[in-house]
Amino acid sequence: MSHDNCIFCKIVAGQIPSAQVYADDDVIVFKDINPAAELHLLVVPRRHIPTLQDCSVEDQGLLGRMLLLAPKLARDAGFAFEAGSHREANGFRVVMNTGPGGGQEVYHIHMHVLAGPRPWKRM
Ligand code: 5GP
Ligand code: ZN
Repeated sequence: MSHDNCIFCKIVAGQIPSAQVYADDDVIVFKDINPAAELHLLVVPRRHIPTLQDCSVEDQGLLGRMLLLAPKLARDAGFAFEAGSHREANGFRVVMNTGPGGGQEVYHIHMHVLAGPRPWKRM
């Protein structure tokens, strides 16, 4: 079920272009238009869910798959965490902003995957 005025539903539907790096039956992954770090990807479910707070136990598989995708995406981009390595671009961060207080701007759940040398921009 898509939401008429939702920018991420439009990206999922291909009505708005995006720099897509991954897609499967549940999610698409594309580059953030205003990257805060060298790697800044958005993992976006195809299904419209406004916030993490709207998720229920039925969504635990989807949420688990989104989280498990992060290390694969980071590895593919060259930012896997390597124990013992202290280079700056060693590892990554996942973020899900929820609600105005959490800094959420797009009300279609998405997980940010960020990596790269500091400093990062505010997001
Ligand atoms: P939020 O603040 O909701 O957690 O994150 C929304 C993110 O979506 C922001 O980092 C913003 O740059 C990104 N964004 C907003 N509109 C678009 C768009 O049309 N295309 C892409 N690729 N990213 C977008
Ligand atoms: Zn949507």
